[in-house]
Amino acid sequence: MTQQQQTAGGDVRLAGISKTYGSFTAVHPLDLTVPQGSFFALLGASGCGKTTTLRMIAGLEEATTGTVFLGDRDITDLPPYKRPVNTVFQSYALFPHLDITENVAFGLRRRGIKSVKKQVDEMLELVQLGDFARRKPHQLSGGQQQRVAVARALINHPQVLLLDEPLGALDLKLRRQMQLELKRIQTEVGITFVHVTHDQEEAMTMADTVAVMNGGRVEQLGAPADLYENPRTTFVANFLGTSNLIEGEIVSTGGDLVVAAGGGKLTLPRERCSASSTSSGGRLLLGIRPEKISLAHADDADAIAAGRNRVTGRITDSSFIGVSTQYVVESPAGAALQVYEQNIERDTRLVPGAEVVLHWNPAHAFGLDAAQAID
Ligand code: ATP
Repeated sequence: MTQQQQTAGGDVRLAGISKTYGSFTAVHPLDLTVPQGSFFALLGASGCGKTTTLRMIAGLEEATTGTVFLGDRDITDLPPYKRPVNTVFQSYALFPHLDITENVAFGLRRRGIKSVKKQVDEMLELVQLGDFARRKPHQLSGGQQQRVAVARALINHPQVLLLDEPLGALDLKLRRQMQLELKRIQTEVGITFVHVTHDQEEAMTMADTVAVMNGGRVEQLGAPADLYENPRTTFVANFLGTSNLIEGEIVSTGGDLVVAAGGGKLTLPRERCSASSTSSGGRLLLGIRPEKISLAHADDADAIAAGRNRVTGRITDSSFIGVSTQYVVESPAGAALQVYEQNIERDTRLVPGAEVVLHWNPAHAFGLDAAQAID
């Protein structure tokens, strides 16, 4: 990539940024730092405020309160076209009457630059569309059009590229391809990408850091694996994949927490618990991901290694989905616990009605406030 494009811009920093529309608060005061050069995702369900946040970074939406910094520079009052930031929209917004070269060259031409060929060629190569330079947008697939939109934004050498659900219009297979493609482009150009999506898998695949938004607030921020393994709220636990949440009462706090649940006792390392109270008698939700649970036939329970958490249950449903077998288990600890087991031979699968013991390594569980609503 060109030297110009690697020019440092600094972190994007939102300090107390909020947006209200009349009496409705779309984004509550938000402090957020997007590290320079990172691939950052704003993830959340429809209406949670992620697009509004992105548009406040772009300058397309005026913040009600707060300051937007790019590095040390306060850009809050700069109009969009003066910010070193570009946006790619889901709709691509390509000019239908212009060929791909002229679409990509548009920003340069507008700035009065006549000799555009070298830069356009470089951009088309970056997005692997060198052979399509003379086509019109309607002669390209959706994924190719999206890549043109990215090239058109990047040719202006922004310090930050904002992507507003850029893959939303693509079918699933193309989405998956484009996720990897955008990740490759971001790594190659090295600038900050801020990507808005409601698709948790997309955010997890692409981003270095994900901010999970809910109701106009960031509920949790972190690396994808960290969010998945250490969710701190039920919303995050449920939004990022499936989670079993077992309600229990803390009965011992000596070393690890001991939680009474479903007639048994479960261990939870203290550092894995983000419930606000961890004192004896407190209630919490013990979370465990379905793929972290193993199943043993009740008759084989003696073979389960010491130190693992155990819960008895009865299988009510099983489905083989190729990469794993997914079980639903009825248990005193929960009405419909989900268990995913991989590498199971078809003929060793447990069948509905089987009495089983669910067991897991306590270090794989996490503890959450019981008071939170389970979504
Ligand atoms: P989606 O994925 O559906 O685009 P989002 O998380 O990006 O959702 P926003 O577009 O940021 O959500 O909107 C946040 C909230 O603010 C929504 O409830 C929306 O209805 C509201 N909102 C957005 N723009 C306006 C506006 N101009 N006037 C009033 N309310 C608005």
